[in-house]
Formats: sequence, C-alpha cells, structure tokens
Amino acid sequence: MANPTLLILAGDGIGPEVMAQVTRVIDWFGAKRDLAFDVENDLVGGAAYDAHGTPLHDDTMARALEVDAVLLGAVGGPKYDDLDFSVKPERGLLRLRKEMDLFSNLRPAQCFDALADFSSLKKDVVAGLDIMIVRELTSGVYFGEPRGIFEEGNERVGINTQRYTESEIDRVARSAFELAKRRGNKVCSMEKANVMESGILWREVVQRVHDADYPEVELSHMYADNGAMQLVRAPKQFDVILTDNLFGDILSDCAAMLTGSLGMLPSASLGAPNAEGRPKALYEPVHGSAPDIAGQGKANPIACMLSFAMALRYSFDQGDEATRLEAAVEKVLADGARTADLMGPDDGAPISTTEMGDAILAA
Ligand code: ATP
Ligand code: MG
Repeated sequence: MANPTLLILAGDGIGPEVMAQVTRVIDWFGAKRDLAFDVENDLVGGAAYDAHGTPLHDDTMARALEVDAVLLGAVGGPKYDDLDFSVKPERGLLRLRKEMDLFSNLRPAQCFDALADFSSLKKDVVAGLDIMIVRELTSGVYFGEPRGIFEEGNERVGINTQRYTESEIDRVARSAFELAKRRGNKVCSMEKANVMESGILWREVVQRVHDADYPEVELSHMYADNGAMQLVRAPKQFDVILTDNLFGDILSDCAAMLTGSLGMLPSASLGAPNAEGRPKALYEPVHGSAPDIAGQGKANPIACMLSFAMALRYSFDQGDEATRLEAAVEKVLADGARTADLMGPDDGAPISTTEMGDAILAA
C-alpha cells in the first residue's frame, strides 16, 4: 500500500520556525515508530507570493486536493501589508479552505495540568479541561446573500444574512457526532432558536441526524448566549460543542483563552470524506505568523506539534501515536519546559523554539 501523503505548507513568519520542529518529530516517527509518510513541502502566503507572484500556486492547490492531509504553519506579515487584496497572503489560506470545502472546523481547548495556573480562570475551573468546538466554517452569516451596504430612503443600511440549508447543517452535525463517538460521547449544540429562524432549523436538523444515526450519543441543545456563560462558568460540563460559523468564531476564541497561550492551540478543518472515508483535511495552529517574534527563535512550536497530532488521529488513523505525541508535550510541560509565551515576566529564562523541540523529542 502507498504511504499516506502529507503536504507541508510552512508559510511565513514563525510558520517555518515551528514547522522545522514538527518535521523533526515526523522524522522521529518514521525512524522509531515505523510510520512512513511521504512528506512534500511547498509554499503558501507571502513566501508563495515572493516566488510566484500569487499567495497560492495552482499546482499547490491541485496537490492539496490530492494528498491525505495538509499541515500549514502561518501566513502574512508586515512585508505584505501594502499588497493588493487579491494577492494578500491570507488569500492563499482562504483559497485552500474554500476549494477543499472545509466545512467543519475543529478547535480543541485542552488545559494541560502544568499550565492550569496560566489560564485566565481559577485553576479548579480549568484543570483537566478537554473540550472540542466544532464550528461550521463555510456558510452562515459570513456568506449569506443578500449582503452589502445599500441605500434605503435617505440613509444607508448594512445587511448580512444568516442562511443555512438543511444539508449544510446535516453534514457538520455528522462530523460532530462522529467526533463525539471517539471522545466523551456527548454533543451540546448551540444556536439561538429562540430568536432566529436559522436556529430553529439548526436545532431540528441536529436532533433529526442524532435520532436517525447517532442515538447512542448524548445530545443537548443550548442557546449560544447561555453557552458563552457556561463556557466561562463551568467549561468541564462540555465534551463536543457544535455550533454555526458566527457563534463558533466567538465561542472558540473564548474557549481558547481558558487554556493559556495562543502558542498551545491546534486546529483542524475537515471537508467531505473521500473514497476511503477520510475527510479532506487542513491542520494548522490557531496562532498567526507572529511578526513581532519571527526570526528570533522564541516561538512556541507546541500548537503546530499538536496540529500534527490531530493529523495523526483524524487523517492517518494513528490515534495511539497521536496520544504518544500529546503525552510527550504534557511531560515536558510538567518538567517545566517553557517558551517565553508560557511565562510571566518574573519567571526566569525561557527556552528557545529548538530547545522545546529537543525536549519533546527526548520525551
Ligand atoms: P493573524 O492575523 O495572522 O491571526 P495576529 O496578529 O492575530 O495574526 P498572531 O500572529 O497569532 O496574531 O500573534 C498574536 C500574539 O501572540 C503576538 O504577540 C505573538 O507574538 C504571540 N504568539 C502567537 N503565536 C505564538 C507562538 N507560537 N509562540 C509564542 N508567541 C506567539
Ligand atoms: Mg488573529
């Protein structure tokens, strides 16, 4: 059987720095765990613009649609701020998401014990936290028509339309239930069915998918405003949270800050399954290119490392190996390894990106 293929697009800023550490880990899995991937490297964002005059070359796009998974670093930076909108680095990432039709965005919020003091909440509220937000990514109010700023009488009106079809809700609901089966077997769906028609349909379709195909998964529904409150009050009550594009945008940033640093947070965006039943998939750290620290060896590689762990689990059927990598991360944190983003101003000297890579490999 052919090896699975991973397309690495390291991108800009700290992207290549954190990816270099992930590449060492991938090599380790090949050498020590006999996990062979065919790894291809290509350009995205400003790096692609510098080489080709476009933030994503057509050949790269075509390859992304063929491989088993894409792992992306970060795109953008001040060097590209004045570029025309059509060739901005971010457009490379948006094109990938759109053409791969990645409708299901997975953002875990997991609190490593060693960092529980670092959260914006009290330690006992977040210690042991492990939840996953599933956000619909390709529809809803960010895309619905009509949209625009229109003349109305003697003033202007700004319009966006929240629009969801049954099939759009159906497919993202399935991805949340599938995920829940591999985790804590619990889904809480969040909308505003009390005031929004799209919310009424959302709730109805999610319930229908559940009753027909996932009756064994525990399902609850919550209004999104209450959900936001519960997320901050008692986040450990949740396992998988399923929600739309707008609410997911807000709720996932909120959940992220329960856990500490942006440098710790991975994500996955999944599309429709291929013939082998594997979804099209793009994995990336939640953080951006961090121009303020790029090139200084300060970046925390863990978010990108954990994104690769998600790829192992969801694209390569290597859940045990993913757990092995996550356990190594947990161990180095417990042993006190800290990049600068994981420290207060008086906490002593941080380690570098490469030293964090060393520690994880050793663990
Ligand atoms: P984007 O628009 O690309 O999302 P942004 O400006 O919103 O970018 P980031 O580039 O993620 O956000 O940076 C936000 C802050 O977090 C910066 O101060 C950056 O240095 C810090 N940061 C982000 N990622 C990391 C990381 N991996 N390690 C350490 N610090 C990080
Ligand atoms: Mg940002």
